[in-house]
Amino acid sequence: MTTTIKRIRGGINPGHHKETAELETVRMPLPSRVIIPMLQHLGALCVPLVKKGDRVLVGQKIGDSDKPVSAPVHSSVSGNVTDVRPLIYSNGMEVTVVEIKPDGLQELHESVVPPSCADRESMLKAIRESGIVGLGGAGFPTSIKLSPPPGKMIDTVIINGAECEPFITSDYREMMENPQYVIEGTKKVMEITGAGKALIGIEDNKPDAIELLSSLVSDQDGIEVVSLPVRYPQGGEKQLIYALTGRKVPTGGLPMDVGVLVQNVATVSFIAQYFKTGLPLIRKKVTVDGSAVANPKNVEVLIGTPLKEVFEFCGGFCDEPRKIIMGGPMMGVAQHSLDDPVLKQTNALLAFGESDAEQPKESVCIRCGKCVAACPMSLLPLYINLNVVRGNFEGIEKYHVSDCIECGCCSYVCPASRNLVQSVRIAKAELRKAAARKQGGGN
Ligand code: SF4
Ligand code: SF4
Repeated sequence: MTTTIKRIRGGINPGHHKETAELETVRMPLPSRVIIPMLQHLGALCVPLVKKGDRVLVGQKIGDSDKPVSAPVHSSVSGNVTDVRPLIYSNGMEVTVVEIKPDGLQELHESVVPPSCADRESMLKAIRESGIVGLGGAGFPTSIKLSPPPGKMIDTVIINGAECEPFITSDYREMMENPQYVIEGTKKVMEITGAGKALIGIEDNKPDAIELLSSLVSDQDGIEVVSLPVRYPQGGEKQLIYALTGRKVPTGGLPMDVGVLVQNVATVSFIAQYFKTGLPLIRKKVTVDGSAVANPKNVEVLIGTPLKEVFEFCGGFCDEPRKIIMGGPMMGVAQHSLDDPVLKQTNALLAFGESDAEQPKESVCIRCGKCVAACPMSLLPLYINLNVVRGNFEGIEKYHVSDCIECGCCSYVCPASRNLVQSVRIAKAELRKAAARKQGGGN
């Protein structure tokens, strides 16, 4: 079979900056402490299962929730719990964290054994126990994503190897360093969902990964590696589904509504490794780059490692860092403290000096329409911005703000440097508040 690619709407070409692509991943030594948040996924907060003074082992479950949309968290080190305390994330949310001082022994917990699974239910249970969440950045619990409700059939699994954000190369390294696991994990996801077809989408600025994975699937029925044109946000879930299948996820809908399930390459690779070793998600491949980083690298980091120690491992800063981002420059989250930890879904840490972090001054919208042309979701960012600036939230739903994927294309192209993505976020927050008021019976 050969898939015909559909061109996505809008988008931009912001430049690759993937200078770390050929740098093999290096494993970082044990940090001085790990700080493990009880929320590293979309869904319910976990409750700590340990207390100050407890000794914990590698892979031991230290937080869990009985709420359906959640994923347990595990200790990435053996050592002693030194604190269980609140932490304010860079997005303003307060979470509980378990802080552990490693003892250097890295003793494995007795639960770390390969899962023995006879059927789909036991495989899903094992996947939940592994703590895996979407590693592409979204952090949605994988076991939930793999369990569509009755009546929703998945016929196609899409494995996202697009990695379309500038600077990030950790998924590329995963494909080059663990290609067999990417294929094994893809097959596992096909087995669980019953899908007969899998498409591994990779942007064509990664020819080595396309060639390597293509050679491994040449004798595999139903799996195809598809080369995608380089265009941000090609790796957006809805954009990838359209590019590879021509199907459009409806407004407010999910990929399962069009028979598709999307998983990131690192997620499926982890699933395959977990079924082999039983070691839950305690490590993460992270690209460390940016003009302020002395020695950019791809690093394998224990989850919970403070950002400061990751940057120090990369030679520290060669320039005063004016902006530190967790994730890519387009969709990542600016960090306010280097004491914050690496999370499950951290795929990049970027630090930029003054010239790269400069924030241009906003000026008046000149109605050029560039933001509309660049929007992959066919939205009207200029009108959302106008209404937000005027504080006019009445009827703002008509601009379909909830469809915005916060890709940043509109802000990137705007010659007036309007804060367009920020406007959409404000509009979304106002809509959430209005929905909560309605539910609570207020006005
Ligand atoms: S409005 Fe949203 S989806 Fe459209 S370009 Fe801007 S950030 Fe992207
Ligand atoms: S790109 Fe900027 S200046 Fe042009 S229409 Fe959109 S908001 Fe206005």
